[in-house]
Amino acid sequence: MPELPEIEITARRLDGALHGAEIASALAPGVKVMRTFEPPLSVLAGQRIERVGRRGKHLLVETSGELVLVIHLMSAGRLQLYERKAGPRDRTSRLLVRALLDDPSREVELRLREFGSKQAAWVKLLRRAELEQDESIAKLGPEAWPTPPLRELLGAPRPLHAVLRDQHVIAGIGRSWVDEILWEARLSPFKRAGDLDDRETASLAQAMADTLGGAIDHYEQTVKLPIPDKLPMPLKVHRHEGEPCPRCETRLEAVHFEDYVIAYCPSCQTGGRTLKDRRLSRLLK
Ligand SMILES: [Zn+2]
Repeated sequence: MPELPEIEITARRLDGALHGAEIASALAPGVKVMRTFEPPLSVLAGQRIERVGRRGKHLLVETSGELVLVIHLMSAGRLQLYERKAGPRDRTSRLLVRALLDDPSREVELRLREFGSKQAAWVKLLRRAELEQDESIAKLGPEAWPTPPLRELLGAPRPLHAVLRDQHVIAGIGRSWVDEILWEARLSPFKRAGDLDDRETASLAQAMADTLGGAIDHYEQTVKLPIPDKLPMPLKVHRHEGEPCPRCETRLEAVHFEDYVIAYCPSCQTGGRTLKDRRLSRLLK
């Protein structure tokens, strides 16, 4: 599941390669991928790519024609850049944008691919003036990195694990990085956001900046075009339940939910308590 650091490095790499490239064609082999139909993708031909950026977990491809492709990878999508065209039988292709680079002059393909059987990744083609009003962007909270106004955002009497992943509160964090951030801050995933004191709020802010910034720095060293199918996520706690805590060596525990898992260190985060699944499922609702 790509989150803020993975989307950020994708945007940086694609922006570096595609800035100024002229679009030759754009089409969507994924039958369900387009969420807008006017203007049609065909108007992109002849326009230049001015910027590839990010807002929350959305990728934004801005063009010289005052248009923006908004791309959401959901859990299994990747936006990658290839020298060769996708084969007609490549069933992972959802959106294909052919573009001409200047130096050296060659054609490349920006390809939205999606793995697995579900088609959940989506694309909108919007006029730039409409972007901020579009429901996908308008309802997003402030960016989780580098300096969100945390004190103003954390009033809710909801568990931290839920609040930090709520894109309407704060944009960019999902199931993987929330575990890392809360472990770094030594906070229980189930502590209510509104109960944090000043010292805890400060350590959470520091943990968010260090964890998300550290992941981006890691990707700057390790991620190259075309953007790998599997990003080398530097996770210490998430998906490491059963292993020793990297800080104190206590066994990392996990709480399993239908579609995600919360991993944490009982010594560092919950006062030594191991939390039972059933009770916590109720708490998180
Ligand atoms: Zn620990």
